[in-house]
Amino acid sequence: RAKSHGHSTLEIFDEAMGEMAFRRMHLETQLRKDLSDHAPAFWVAYQPIVDPLTARIVGVEALARWHSHGQSVSPDEFIRIAEESDLIHDLGLRVLRTSLAATTVWSPLQPDLSLAVNVSPVQLRRADFCERVREALREQGLSPHLLCLEITEGALLESSSVSIRNLTELHQAGVRLAVDDFGSGYSSLSQLRRFAVHRLKADKSFAEDIPLLRAVADLGVALRCEVLAEGIETAEQRDTLVQLGYRLAQGYFWHKPRPASEIEHLLVRQAAQNTT
Ligand code: C2E
Ligand code: MG
Ligand code: MG
Ligand code: MG
Repeated sequence: RAKSHGHSTLEIFDEAMGEMAFRRMHLETQLRKDLSDHAPAFWVAYQPIVDPLTARIVGVEALARWHSHGQSVSPDEFIRIAEESDLIHDLGLRVLRTSLAATTVWSPLQPDLSLAVNVSPVQLRRADFCERVREALREQGLSPHLLCLEITEGALLESSSVSIRNLTELHQAGVRLAVDDFGSGYSSLSQLRRFAVHRLKADKSFAEDIPLLRAVADLGVALRCEVLAEGIETAEQRDTLVQLGYRLAQGYFWHKPRPASEIEHLLVRQAAQNTT
């Protein structure tokens, strides 16, 4: 029997499960603490959004960053933990307020700079979400149309009436809506039409796929919304985008997500170039 060889498969499995559960619990506790303490371990990085033709920075996307005991934890992991607990509301609001404050500081350098912030479907299910966003905008004094909230296709599929009301009210408040990782999920065109979508972000996995990038570009024309290509890493991919008429892009080819201070340097340099 397996037992006689030491650990049974089941025991090893149990142990692995136990370790995973322990890590998850530990991270949740730590994240809760860091968020409530306003610890510097939790911060916001910004990835420039550029015009692929000129490389001009036209906006930034706020991306949450977290270090637990000096080790950076991937957003994919800690966002899921935050979504499965109640932490996503605090976390999301923290990212929103921090990034709105930063954008307000940057706007004298570039008045049309837009800010993209990721929103979890869990946040949309809370009745006061839209009001919180409006409050944050009022506090920071940023024009609502400079804020673009990114939601994944999954969130559009939600039929929860609260989510729908939030999305509708945000639109009425002048806030823009982007569909993130577009093409990786299951939303249908009719679902897209239910909401006033301002921007489609072609999923990173399309960066190498010219026909799919073209399809998203065509869809943008049909739905009268902006299209953006994510995950662009090479000059060749950039050239493709330009040929397809994309006016918005993001990727390591131009910039990785960076701390606010570095974004400020980039914007100062860009503003100086514009005046010379
Ligand atoms: P996302 O919103 O689709 O963000 C784009 C991800 O692609 C980011 O990963 C970014 O660092 C990465 N990326 C950008 N350019 C390139 C590139 O050229 N190549 C490659 N391979 N990757 C690139 P990150 O920062 O790890 O975030 C992962 C996901 O976590 C985000 O995907 C978003 O869904 C979620 N996330 C991050 N911050 C927040 C937040 O504040 N709230 C919520 N709800 N979700 C967030
Ligand atoms: Mg995003
Ligand atoms: Mg994405
Ligand atoms: Mg993503």
